[in-house]
Amino acid sequence: MDIMFKSTRGDKNYVTASQAIVKGIADDGGLFVPEVIPKIDFDLGKITSYSYRELAYRILRLILTDYTEDELKYCINSAYDEKFDTELIAPLVKAGNANFLELFHGRTIAFKDMALSILPYLLKTAAKKNGVSEEIVILTATSGDTGKAALEGFADVEGTRIIVFYPNDGVSDVQKAQMVTQKGANTCVAAIKGNFDDAQTAVKKIFTDSELKQELKQRGFVFSSANSINIGRLAPQIVYYFYAYAQLVNSGRITMGDKINFTVPTGNFGNILAGYYAKQMGLPVNKLICASNDNKVLFDFLTTGDYDINRDFIVTVSPSMDILISSNLERLLYHVSNSAEKTKELMTSLANGGKYSFKVDEGFVGEYATISETFEAINSLYKETSYVMDTHTAVAYCAYKKYAAASQDSTPNVIVSTASPYKFAKDVLRAIDGKYDGIDPFEALEVLSDVSETPIPAPIKDIDKREVIHKTVIDRSEIKDFVREKLN
Ligand SMILES: *Cc1c(COP(=O)(O)O)cnc(C)c1O
Repeated sequence: MDIMFKSTRGDKNYVTASQAIVKGIADDGGLFVPEVIPKIDFDLGKITSYSYRELAYRILRLILTDYTEDELKYCINSAYDEKFDTELIAPLVKAGNANFLELFHGRTIAFKDMALSILPYLLKTAAKKNGVSEEIVILTATSGDTGKAALEGFADVEGTRIIVFYPNDGVSDVQKAQMVTQKGANTCVAAIKGNFDDAQTAVKKIFTDSELKQELKQRGFVFSSANSINIGRLAPQIVYYFYAYAQLVNSGRITMGDKINFTVPTGNFGNILAGYYAKQMGLPVNKLICASNDNKVLFDFLTTGDYDINRDFIVTVSPSMDILISSNLERLLYHVSNSAEKTKELMTSLANGGKYSFKVDEGFVGEYATISETFEAINSLYKETSYVMDTHTAVAYCAYKKYAAASQDSTPNVIVSTASPYKFAKDVLRAIDGKYDGIDPFEALEVLSDVSETPIPAPIKDIDKREVIHKTVIDRSEIKDFVREKLN
């Protein structure tokens, strides 16, 4: 049976998975959700023997049902190959008493590679299946990591162009260097004066601008999205929740069937939502612990039921989580309320007054870590085990400790590790020893290599010596004209 997708806001048009991936976002501004979340149709006990690719196939075929076996296997095999620096793709690493699911072994050393390695293949295949002849323009707003991972994924992919917007003052030096040095004739990168929410809101507006869409269609372009609003981003992320579980069983830390917790450093709520889907599909999950930084809108929401963005936006040391409007929460609201009408009402309230109230339980718990708590977490784990966490993973590590202490919940836990410490080397070093305060961000790579006794990952080695290709800085009001111009 085909699983069909529909908008969270009530648009009555059902689309197939491949159509949803091409469109990115529904015409009414809602996000595509599967009408039912499928259950796994294989014996859970078997996952311990599956490779990452095999598991990916078993999971994705249940959700992306209109792709043929050959198509899916082509996409999976093209994505999860030597681009990753370990055959495991997503290894589970033990440090002290903590289990880290390392999702940063791909080309841009952040977890976005897990989905953005496969999305271009899913999209190209989808375009072919649906007879889309226009060139596909990927428009992406990034808090730092999505942009680079999308650029890497789509660079020189035939029939596509990619335009990335990032907040000028909201990304790390390494993240910025990664993006502005991007090669590929079809790539375009611009800095936006403003924060991530400004960039994301402006980009979402373009997706629903029917006049602009019409104009560009006549010129042979259609828009799609590489942000986690695209269901093609979310579905591949479900796989590693099962994969983490299999590795815990294989290492003897749990017995097949035991429930586990996941703690996820959260921004746009995409990663943790994939964990929720994994649970709905049949993975034995107890709690999903949603870890926030000082921008703790989600913590407040999960503890009080009030979502409220009327507060200061705080620039932290975990920039990929500096988000007040977590787009994918809309999908959870839809699944929990089981009502497009209710979801639309909440989203309208968010758009108008910046807040809404709705109580979600469903096994989610909110926690958060301040900047100093994040530094303290990196420092203490390093001293204890010499394992070095990045600043985002450290937010989760700290949030988990706080949760475990407060709840006395002793369920085995996996911390979802979303970036290599090298991506945020300057702040990681500062956390390890105050004497590194003010260190040059690129010199920090060498020093971190000494401190952690690990080699600098190839994707960022000598990044400061590469040619800067993308220099544009624009106001957010200029995004639309910029897109128009670039597609001329
Ligand atoms: C994107 C990102 C996050 C947040 O993930 P969401 O899916 O947006 O919740 C956390 N950490 C890192 C390093 C990221 O790049």
